[in-house]
Amino acid sequence: MVKCSKCGRDAVIYQPYSGQSLCERHFEESVLTRFKQELRRQGEFKRGKRIAVALSGGKDSSVLLHLLKRVFREREDIELTAITVDEGIAGYRDISLQIAKRLTKNLGIEHVTVSFKEELGLTLDEMVSLQPPRGPCTYCGVFRRRLLNEAALSAGADYLALGHTLDDFAQSVLMNIFTADVKKLIRLGPHSRVREGFVPRILPMIQIPEKESLLYAILNNLEIQHEECPYAVRAHRGLYREILERMEDAAAGTRHRIVKFHREVLPALLERSLHEPLRACEVCGRPTVGKVCKVCELKREIYEKKGA
Ligand code: SF4
Ligand SMILES: [Zn+2]
Ligand SMILES: [Zn+2]
Repeated sequence: MVKCSKCGRDAVIYQPYSGQSLCERHFEESVLTRFKQELRRQGEFKRGKRIAVALSGGKDSSVLLHLLKRVFREREDIELTAITVDEGIAGYRDISLQIAKRLTKNLGIEHVTVSFKEELGLTLDEMVSLQPPRGPCTYCGVFRRRLLNEAALSAGADYLALGHTLDDFAQSVLMNIFTADVKKLIRLGPHSRVREGFVPRILPMIQIPEKESLLYAILNNLEIQHEECPYAVRAHRGLYREILERMEDAAAGTRHRIVKFHREVLPALLERSLHEPLRACEVCGRPTVGKVCKVCELKREIYEKKGA
């Protein structure tokens, strides 16, 4: 049995990027240290704050909520509100929604649910059945981001925390570089400044690999969802995952360096985007850079189909 590099007990994990094997205690300690480091780097928590937490009920967002509760357990001036967006995906989101409800109840955290059906008039399943021009993930992602931001604004949140892991984040950075999408690279967050109408996003899990998020969930007996979203198209993101896995095998620490690269170029990119003024969407009045916001543009596509 491999032994912990710090104390000699049986190891539960080997971290190729740090060259260490860790026992359960030192693994948890290492996760907490990186999580707190990112929190400090991304937000300001000295005085009372409300953090809205995007909780899908999937593994990573459950780990995020568990870690936030753990870190701020003694802080009465930090309030957590979990937000779950129910897109209306039968056999998938209905299950994770129940997991999210059980988790928030166990942790004693306020839980808000917002649904596509109530806010947009249709579930994602219903939208997909209309065969709109784009893939389900485009509508799902844009509408979910809007609903999360609105719910976080209504909750009076100072930050919106998302459960992106090191792998998710490094993949997204790479994808946006390869597609030359600078705007998306900026939007990824973390957001260091407040723009009117938007709750700044923080991503405190971006130093934690997905494998470690899973191990943390198992060691802390968190319920894990086994169903996959029926619309998940793995091919595209899967390619970036594969590239990164191969890079990681060849040069351990690649994902960490991509996150570091993003952190270092973000201020310069933000500077550039500051000159892009926001104005009110002609349809819904929410802040946007164009005449009509993305949500209204996509809604129009769907409702045109509905009327057809
Ligand atoms: S895989 Fe696509 S459709 Fe499914 S939850 Fe994710 S973004 Fe939405
Ligand atoms: Zn140890
Ligand atoms: Zn709009």
